[in-house]
Amino acid sequence: MKAVCWHGANDVRVDTVPDPKILNPRDAIIKITSTAICGSDLHLYNGFIPTMESGDILGHEFMGEVVELGSAVKNVQIGDRVVVPFTISCGNCFFCQRDLWSLCDNSNPNGWIAEKMYGHSPAGLFGYTHMLGGYAGGQAEYARVPFADVGLFKIPDGLSDDQVLFLTDIFPTGYMAAENCNIQPGDTVAVWGCGPVGQFAIKSAYMLGAERVIAIDRIPERLQMAKEQCKAEVLNYEELDVGEALKEMTGGRGPDSCIDAVGMEAHGTDAMAFYDKAKQAVRLETDRPTALRQVLVACRKGGHVSLAGVYGGFLDKVPMGAAFNKGLTLKMGQTHVHRYLRPLLEHVQNGDIDPSFVITHKMSLEDAPTGYEIFKHKKDNCIKVVLKP
Ligand SMILES: [Zn+2]
Ligand SMILES: [Zn+2]
Repeated sequence: MKAVCWHGANDVRVDTVPDPKILNPRDAIIKITSTAICGSDLHLYNGFIPTMESGDILGHEFMGEVVELGSAVKNVQIGDRVVVPFTISCGNCFFCQRDLWSLCDNSNPNGWIAEKMYGHSPAGLFGYTHMLGGYAGGQAEYARVPFADVGLFKIPDGLSDDQVLFLTDIFPTGYMAAENCNIQPGDTVAVWGCGPVGQFAIKSAYMLGAERVIAIDRIPERLQMAKEQCKAEVLNYEELDVGEALKEMTGGRGPDSCIDAVGMEAHGTDAMAFYDKAKQAVRLETDRPTALRQVLVACRKGGHVSLAGVYGGFLDKVPMGAAFNKGLTLKMGQTHVHRYLRPLLEHVQNGDIDPSFVITHKMSLEDAPTGYEIFKHKKDNCIKVVLKP
């Protein structure tokens, strides 16, 4: 089959690789009909995440048709259309039983690597490093899905791929980011980053009762989408001081909650942002936490801070004193996708949201290298790329 393979920084290729096989009674094989490139794939593309190996198949946002089932998978049938959560979860362990699916104890065969860095291992992920399981990803014609009896979610007829594909990651991720803000009626929520996850965080904040959402970015078409599609008030951080602007807009108090939908490769205009760039380039710092620093300083006293953008390692000059002295509540983590699939699918079915609004580019799997390049450089007003194998 054809698959998008990582061969080093800024080098992805469409290779011919062996078809996946059933290895375990709880596996399924999916023929992929739609698969997306994620902002977190760019962290791999840019070479900032360790334990990738040349030839690894990328992709963790995918859906398709069931073509083969292990003997223990009874919840779906061959021919069913399914979406696949990007987190791999067993369904039986201490964490899965507590609805903490992205913390599954049984899905990362390379947990020992993650334990060295993090103390404990999170769940395995599709197409996302050997530290997180070394699983082949879904930017391919076929994929093997482990624990398919809990990891496949059947899609009812009448919904297009574009409407449900993002249930695999970015819609639940934006939703969980907003849920972690403990939004109360009348609240103002500020969202750093108007990429796809940021857009879903804005929509979700309104769905959860926010009165105002203020979105921060520097890319004009992303700010425009946040304003027009998601009804956010928008701030371009290259044109003003975000902290001052937020104070002014909230009567000096600051937003009730703040979402960082940027993560480890933030851009910035201040001296600290240059410091991060230099240190990250020579591997003295793993992450560039510009957005996180602003979030902690801008959030109102007693407010909630929610991190949806990915952080990988060790962060410099994070103003922990601001977080502590203002009594902030911080919540974060990989998304518990399984928890949100059913309720968010209902929102799509009810017409509360049509997640396809973020798609700007559709291309064939063969064009994936171009897709990565334009997405990385935000060329051609690119916000979200969907590949059609
Ligand atoms: Zn993703
Ligand atoms: Zn588990």
